[in-house]
Amino acid sequence: MTAYLWNPPAVQSLPVYGEEKRLPINRLFFVGRNYHAHAVEMGRPVDKSVERPFYFTKAPQTLLDSGATMTYPPETANFHFEMELVVAIGAPAFRVSQEDAHKAIYGYACGLDMTRRDLQLVARDKGRPWDLGKDIEQGSVCSEIVPMPGVVIDSGEIALEVNGQTQQKSDVNKLIWNVREIIADLSLFYHLQPGDLIYTGTPEGVGPVLAGDKITGHVAGVGEIALTIGAAE
Ligand code: MN
Repeated sequence: MTAYLWNPPAVQSLPVYGEEKRLPINRLFFVGRNYHAHAVEMGRPVDKSVERPFYFTKAPQTLLDSGATMTYPPETANFHFEMELVVAIGAPAFRVSQEDAHKAIYGYACGLDMTRRDLQLVARDKGRPWDLGKDIEQGSVCSEIVPMPGVVIDSGEIALEVNGQTQQKSDVNKLIWNVREIIADLSLFYHLQPGDLIYTGTPEGVGPVLAGDKITGHVAGVGEIALTIGAAE
């Protein structure tokens, strides 16, 4: 048995619908600008005929279970929600074709890609990494994983409310790069592993939240998610 100087960090995990065992998390991948209307509201329209998808990552330690209250994060005055469909990888995948991409799918979840929008936009406009805007402690919220091995989801309402008022409402069929395309493309860069999560991008309507706000959201056929914003430290 390996001896460590102190206890190693805990394995990050999520609950699984219908299972007592939790799903151990490996990595968190996020697709940027994957709905046209959101790309436009960010001032960066996407032309799929000449562009490829792009990605950023967050540390697995940023995961937070649905239903939790998160601390309003430090060093931001414009903290945004982004409602997303999350794909859970269940089998190794490297350079997989779109036709075979479904074999890597374990299941799906609802996710919130919480964002320090002020810092993200500064980073974007200065050509700096997005980490301070995106890689936020408690900022990768995820519902339970719903097992759907080999199933490709390509439609279904995706929506988010703040304090009961609808802010985002779209359909997964509006993804610029769909689930098969994302898995195939991402697998060109990474050896995808069981426990990798892919947040597939957010539709239009993103906006700020403040302490005391309650976020709810759903993806039809997958489930629901909830988050309460707590006071800043
Ligand atoms: Mn996002």
